[in-house]
Amino acid sequence: MAPESDRQRALVAAFADVAVAAGYGQVISPIFEDVRVFHRLGEANDVVTKEMYDFEDKDGRHLALRPELTASIVRAFVQHRPRPPWKAWYEGPQFRHEKPQAGRYRQFTQIGVEVLGPDDPHVDVEVIALAWRFYESLGLSRIRLLLNTLGDPDCRPSYLVALETYLNDHRGDLSEQSQATLATNPLRVLDSKREPDQAVIAGAPLMVDHLSDDAGAHFSAVTDGLQTLGIPYEISPRLVRGLDYYVKTTFEFAGDALESAQNALGGGGRYDDLAEQLGGPATPGIGFALGVDRILLACDAEGVFPAPPTEPQVFVVDVTGGEQAMALTDQLRQAGLRADRAWGNRSMKAQMKVADRSGAAVAVLIGEGELANGTATVRDLRGDTGQQEVSRTDLVATLQQRFAST
Ligand code: AMP
Repeated sequence: MAPESDRQRALVAAFADVAVAAGYGQVISPIFEDVRVFHRLGEANDVVTKEMYDFEDKDGRHLALRPELTASIVRAFVQHRPRPPWKAWYEGPQFRHEKPQAGRYRQFTQIGVEVLGPDDPHVDVEVIALAWRFYESLGLSRIRLLLNTLGDPDCRPSYLVALETYLNDHRGDLSEQSQATLATNPLRVLDSKREPDQAVIAGAPLMVDHLSDDAGAHFSAVTDGLQTLGIPYEISPRLVRGLDYYVKTTFEFAGDALESAQNALGGGGRYDDLAEQLGGPATPGIGFALGVDRILLACDAEGVFPAPPTEPQVFVVDVTGGEQAMALTDQLRQAGLRADRAWGNRSMKAQMKVADRSGAAVAVLIGEGELANGTATVRDLRGDTGQQEVSRTDLVATLQQRFAST
């Protein structure tokens, strides 16, 4: 609820401006999808196996509340076949059955973009820069961009063999959970934050050392592009991201003003095979999702991006029965001003109390005298400029001018 909801709305609007200015069109996709859309995220993935809210509908179809939006957007691409390059942005709630804690909720809001079509590494740079510039525009400065590559179908299989062999050799030193992960998805062992795993992970072979020529050239072009734009990054060779569909570039944004348990502010990567896996033509893609709730926590921690003003600019106090307030607030709102009024034909004193409490900058008073004279009294509630009687014909223009720069 307000004022947090005002802030969230302003944040999403700021993101929409950034995305639209870069040529992205909004996709409003359904809250639930056929569960098979999300199975593409990876059968060995917690988001799919443990955290998804799935259910059968009245027709016996197996559906799921979306846990993320990339798969839905790619499903929409496959279904509607817009002409590539297709640049989409989105916002909306996602659902994951996680253990709720600070910055981790079962319903949370993400904003993001996806680009389907080109495999040009400059698209990777554009997408990463979009998120980076957005954080900057909010006033955030303690953000780190972590960058990695997960290779491509030419080099990943041989790397996975090397990694699996190494991890199996050190199986006994891994935590129980990581031993289980090793059996289903060795790459994700690198993601473990558990203490006993750290020594094993530190010695594990790295994807960046096993890249094919093509994947290596792609990654170099991305890092060169980021340097050209002056966007600082850290190579994070163990960043694997949760979802199975990523190839080549992957990235995350860490908010250093937050505790490490909630400092993931967003992330994304390239998923060149997902469209084909969902039944469409082979079409490379890349995108990111940012957590709105987390970004607002980071803004609190850095003391930036306050809630936008929502208090009325003008509060109408009408002690002649209320008809004047009804007409005048309507007129003021049409003129683009935030205007409100009191209800119930109460005394001047009672209405002025409400006006004061509303946070309005100005009260417009209409009593029998003003009504007879065709005027209104404009009273400054915040400063000490006192009050002045203004003709009703000039009233709206006078107030518009007063608030022109706020
Ligand atoms: P993911 O889709 O898991 O890569 O998440 C992208 C971003 O969404 C994360 O970096 C977080 O900022 C945010 N996020 C993910 N899960 C949650 C959650 N349960 N509650 C709040 N924010 C979340």
